[in-house]
Amino acid sequence: MRELTYLRPDDAASAVAAVTGDPDARFLAGGTNLVDHLKLGVARPGALVDVSRLGMDRVEEVELPDGGTGLRVGASVRNSDLAARPEVRRRFPAVARALLSGASGQIRNQATTAGNLLQRTRCVYFQDVSTPCNKREPGTGCSAIGGYGRYNAILGASPDCVTVHPSDLAVALAATDATVVVLGPDGERRMPYAELHRLPGDRPQDDTTLRHGELITAVELADSTLARSSGYHKARDRASFAFALVSVAAGLDLAADGTVRDVRIAWGGVAHKPWRAEVAEERLRGGPIDEAAVRAAAEAELEAASTDEQTAYKAAMVRNATVLVLGQLAREITRRNQR
Ligand SMILES: Cc1cc2nc3c(=O)[nH]c(=O)nc-3n(C[C@H](O)[C@H](O)[C@H](O)COP(=O)(O)OP(=O)(O)OC[C@H]3O[C@@H](n4cnc5c(N)ncnc54)[C@H](O)[C@@H]3O)c2cc1C
Ligand code: SF4
Repeated sequence: MRELTYLRPDDAASAVAAVTGDPDARFLAGGTNLVDHLKLGVARPGALVDVSRLGMDRVEEVELPDGGTGLRVGASVRNSDLAARPEVRRRFPAVARALLSGASGQIRNQATTAGNLLQRTRCVYFQDVSTPCNKREPGTGCSAIGGYGRYNAILGASPDCVTVHPSDLAVALAATDATVVVLGPDGERRMPYAELHRLPGDRPQDDTTLRHGELITAVELADSTLARSSGYHKARDRASFAFALVSVAAGLDLAADGTVRDVRIAWGGVAHKPWRAEVAEERLRGGPIDEAAVRAAAEAELEAASTDEQTAYKAAMVRNATVLVLGQLAREITRRNQR
């Protein structure tokens, strides 16, 4: 039996101080990921600092520093509550669809916004403490290289880690203009969402750029035409209760002549973090949005991919899913414009 301290502070500064001052302390939100890891022995914290009483459970309209508007989503807002909000469904459909495609109803009722983004990988070796894993125990090796590799990354992997990020919400946010609001021992800082997660490099143990003790207090979603015309598709082994094999979030803005004014594409299940397909986006801007153009753009992005016999399916699947999502969005926009 291991001893564990449990704290439930009433203000965010105390929570940050409690974790910052103890290298073995961790924040606890819904517990659907962290508690599993405690049971498996994957995480062995000495203290849990519960964030449920920090007042981070609201969704509010917000004016953004650049003059725009948006929604400020508290870090402790439950996944099911966020997905059900009419303003999220209307203004950020990709976010609502990504949330609803994750886990099960019961887990979504418990899981939180920040917890979902900061959940750890589902790599089977990471979760099995009897096997070497650089992410769980730096310097021990990577069992997924040369092992069971069906879920491995095809983009941005390193010789130290080839796993992928599991969150659906994370992929939708990567295709949305979002900002992460963080409270640390030196006060608040804001970072573009794209800077939150990192590729493994030679430090796969660090999933994000957050420092120990930094608390996510909110995520701010910026209103935009792209966000309003956005969608999400997840390919998986079962219709529910399964992580993505690959997923695609996209936002589309078409000019009056039907050409692409702007586009955002993010891929899930292919890399250690949500993968912004910027090469594909650049190829599509200013041109047509037909199947051939999207297929060619996805191919251009996939030139950087590295696959083997276990993961080759992912390249084909993510390309087809991109065609599917952008095709649906283009048809929706055309229908809207004809009304
Ligand atoms: C069977 C099963 C199936 C699932 N399927 C999916 C799926 O298909 N798609 C998907 O996206 N997810 C899926 N999940 C994962 C689930 O969505 C996550 O477990 C959940 O979102 C984590 O949120 P939580 O609030 O429970 O976080 P916790 O488990 O409490 O915490 C997770 C991590 O976040 C940190 N943390 C929490 N809040 C903060 C904060 N405010 N600031 C800083 N750090 C913080 C914790 O310290 C911990 O490291 C599944 C989970 C299970 C068990
Ligand atoms: S892929 Fe990453 S998480 Fe999986 S065993 Fe290798 S180092 Fe660990």
